[in-house]
Amino acid sequence: MTETISHDVLIIGSGIAGLRAAIEASQLTGGKLSIGVISKVHAMRSHSVCAQGGTAAVLRVDRGDSAEAHIFDTIKGSDYLADQDAAERLVSLAPKEIYQLERWGMPWSREGDGRIAQREFGGHSFPRATFAGDRVGFYEMQTLYDTCLRYPNIQFYHEWYVTKLIVDGGEFRGATAIEIKSGTFTAFKAKGGIIATGGAGRLYAFATYSHSSTADGLAMAYRAGIPLKDMEFVQFHPTGLVPSGVLITEGARGDGGVLTNKDGERFMKKYAAQKLELAPRDVVARAIAREIQEGRGFRDESGMEYVHLDLRHLGAEKIKERLSEIREVCIKLRGIDPIEEPIPVRFVCHFTMGGIHANIDGATPVKGLWSAGEAACITVNGANRLGSNSTAICLVWGAITGRAAAEYAAHHDGANFQRDPVLAEEKRIYDSIFRGEGKDNPYDVKHELEETMDEHANVFRTEQGLGEALKTVRGLKQRAYQHVEVKSTEFNMNLINVLELQSMLDVAEVVLAGAHARAESRGAHFRLDFPKRDDQHWLKHTLAYKTSDGTRLEYSPVTITRYQPKERTY
Ligand SMILES: Cc1cc2nc3c(=O)[nH]c(=O)nc-3n(C[C@H](O)[C@H](O)[C@H](O)COP(=O)(O)OP(=O)(O)OC[C@H]3O[C@@H](n4cnc5c(N)ncnc54)[C@H](O)[C@@H]3O)c2cc1C
Repeated sequence: MTETISHDVLIIGSGIAGLRAAIEASQLTGGKLSIGVISKVHAMRSHSVCAQGGTAAVLRVDRGDSAEAHIFDTIKGSDYLADQDAAERLVSLAPKEIYQLERWGMPWSREGDGRIAQREFGGHSFPRATFAGDRVGFYEMQTLYDTCLRYPNIQFYHEWYVTKLIVDGGEFRGATAIEIKSGTFTAFKAKGGIIATGGAGRLYAFATYSHSSTADGLAMAYRAGIPLKDMEFVQFHPTGLVPSGVLITEGARGDGGVLTNKDGERFMKKYAAQKLELAPRDVVARAIAREIQEGRGFRDESGMEYVHLDLRHLGAEKIKERLSEIREVCIKLRGIDPIEEPIPVRFVCHFTMGGIHANIDGATPVKGLWSAGEAACITVNGANRLGSNSTAICLVWGAITGRAAAEYAAHHDGANFQRDPVLAEEKRIYDSIFRGEGKDNPYDVKHELEETMDEHANVFRTEQGLGEALKTVRGLKQRAYQHVEVKSTEFNMNLINVLELQSMLDVAEVVLAGAHARAESRGAHFRLDFPKRDDQHWLKHTLAYKTSDGTRLEYSPVTITRYQPKERTY
C-alpha cells in the first residue's frame, strides 16, 4: 500500500522561488501550518545557486533611478509582450525583497559608504543589479535556506522526485513522488500547492543550465490540463564559455567587458550603437550569431565558432574583486586567465521566458495551485527577459504565492484524497518503464533531442527547420514512452532520467509548436522567414494545451497599461 504524507502546503522545488515561498507561508501563519518542500536534488544544489551577476531593484532614486524606468526597461526589453501590470508589480516589490534578504543575513557587495552596491546589466537604463561578487544566487540560496531552517514547521524532502500533480474536479489535492534513495513511491496530500521547479533549458545541449533543469514541473502542469504559455521564447545568453557552455555573467559586460570579432572589431557598434554590449540579450546574441555566420568568428578545436569577450582593460584588481568566479571558471575549464587573455564565448541557451500559465498573483487555473519563479509565466519577461530580473521575480512571486497558498490552506479543510490517480500513476511508471520493450537507450534519445533543439530552435529559426524538428521530437516521444526499459528502483538515476526525458519531450513539442506557428520575429524568437515584429497579428500570448493528438494552441491578449508598442532600438 502506497504511503501518504500530508502537509497543509506543498512546495515543489527549492530554488530561490520555492524557499522564499516556504518562508512566507511559514511566517504568515506563525508556524501553525505544516509546509513540505520537495526537491529532486538537495535544496542547496538547486539550479538557483548558479545565478551569478545580480538581482534587479530600484534602490537609488536619489541618484536618478526610478520605478518608471525599471518598468519601461522591462517592457521594452520584453519586445512589448510583457503584461505591463505584472512588470509594475515586480518593480514595486523588488526593493523590499532586497532589504528583507539583507535582514536575513545576505552579504550584498557594498559601496565605500556601506550602501548596497549596484552594477549595470543589459537593457537596463540604470545600474540597478544588486550583487554579491559574481555569486548572487549562491548567497541568496544560502540566506534563504538558513532562514528556512529556523522554522520547524518547514519540512524538506531532499532528493525526492515528483512525478505527477493530483488534481480532482479542477482542485489541487497533492502529488506523487519517488524517494530517489529507496525508490519508494509515495503520495503527498496537501491543501495548497506551489510549483517552483525552474526552467526547461536542458532541452538544449549547449546550455548554461544545471543538468537538473529538465522541465518536470512544466510537463506535470501540462499533463494536468494547465496550459503552458509563451514557450517559444527561449533566451540565448550572449556569452557562454566555449566549448563547455558555462555562463560568463553579463556582469562582466556590465563592469566594462567588450566583444570583438576575429578582425579585432568591437562589432556591437553596428547592432546597438548606443547600448553596445549592454543591449538586451536577444540583440547581443543575434549580433554574435551574425558575426559568426558571416565569417568573422574564431574556430575552436571542438569545431565551435565564437567571438572574444575582452576584460583585460578592467585590470587585475577589479576582475579579482568583482568577477572572481568567472575568472576561476575560465582558468579551470579553459586554461585562460581573463586578466591576460580574452575569453572565447558564443550564444548559449540560458532562460525559459515561457512557463506554466499563471495570473498576476501566480495562481494557475487549478484551484489551490500556484506557480512561482522560472517555472511560472506570469508574464513579466514577455519575449525577452532582462538580466537580473529573474532572481527578483523569484523573490517577489515566491513571497506572493507563499502567502496566497498559506492563506488558502488555513481556510480550507483537506478534501477527500482519491487514491485512483495515485494508483494510475504508479502503474504508469512501473508498468510502462519497468516493463518497457527495452530497445532504446534513453541517453541516445536525449542526445537526439538536444541536437534537434540546438539545430532548429536556436537564435535563428525557420518554418522548415521547426517543422522537421517537430516531426523528430514526435518520433522521439514514441521511443521514450514505449521502448526504454529500466531495472531496479534503489538510487536508480536511470529511472529518474527516463522520467525527465519524457518531461523534456512533452515540453520540447510545445516550444516547437509555438515557434512554428508564430510567423513573426519578437524578442528571442527570430524567424528568418518572418524577420519583422507583427503587432497586428501576433501581439498576443501563446497558450499550449495537451490533447491526445499533441499540442493545441490558443492565444490570449497582452495586458497593456501605459506603454504602446513601438520600434525597439538600443
Ligand atoms: C548560470 C546562470 C546564471 C544566472 N544568473 C542570474 C543572475 O545573475 N540574475 C538573475 O536574475 N538570474 C540569473 N539566472 C537565472 C536564474 O538563476 C533562474 O531563473 C532562477 O534561479 C530560477 O530559480 P527557481 O527558484 O525558479 O528554480 P530553480 O533554482 O531552477 O529550482 C528548481 C527546483 O525545482 C526542483 N525540481 C525540479 N523538478 C522536480 C521534480 N520533478 N521533483 C522535485 N523537485 C523538482 C529542483 O530540485 C530545484 O529545487 C541565471 C541562470 C543561469 C543558468
